[in-house]
Amino acid sequence: MALVKCPECGKENVSDNAEMCPECGYGIKAHFDLLKQKQLNQEIYQRKLDHVKMPEKPRKKKFFYVLAVLSVIAGLYGFFLSPVIAIIMFLYAWWMYYEGDKQYKREMERYNLALTDFEKYQKEFVREEERRAFVETLKPKCPSCGSTNIQRITTLDRAASFTMVGMASGKIGKQYKCKKCRHMW
Ligand SMILES: [Zn+2]
Ligand SMILES: [Zn+2]
Repeated sequence: MALVKCPECGKENVSDNAEMCPECGYGIKAHFDLLKQKQLNQEIYQRKLDHVKMPEKPRKKKFFYVLAVLSVIAGLYGFFLSPVIAIIMFLYAWWMYYEGDKQYKREMERYNLALTDFEKYQKEFVREEERRAFVETLKPKCPSCGSTNIQRITTLDRAASFTMVGMASGKIGKQYKCKKCRHMW
């Protein structure tokens, strides 16, 4: 508790815990609670920003190029079987090359931003982190262990498990299965 000046009428020595200003009735406590909350949020945000480190220089992901080269080779062999297979393999190779290139360019853009405007990079990083955390809260969770690593039980799953074990199947009438603790609900 501290003694403050009423922000509305300027009366001195009012407790910041007082619901109302004795002079003008202004909601003192609510005003200062909100202020404290804002300060706290600002501190948390600042700490998150300070946490963001300079990223490492991105490297091209070999994975995509290996797949592309393998597809080209498969496509060349495919010519013996049918030109259609070859064309599909070549298209796949091009797609893999394109994906690898796209990811690399995106990472390079972020890296360059960090080099030229690190503050902006930090802000964007935190925003992206917060967005991901928010998306995570929207995901359905296992009511037993809280894991988000869950799987939807499809009608096909249910039918298959019914044919296998009949009415005893635990999947009947359940919508989700937790991949971590195997709970179904
Ligand atoms: Zn007042
Ligand atoms: Zn679980």
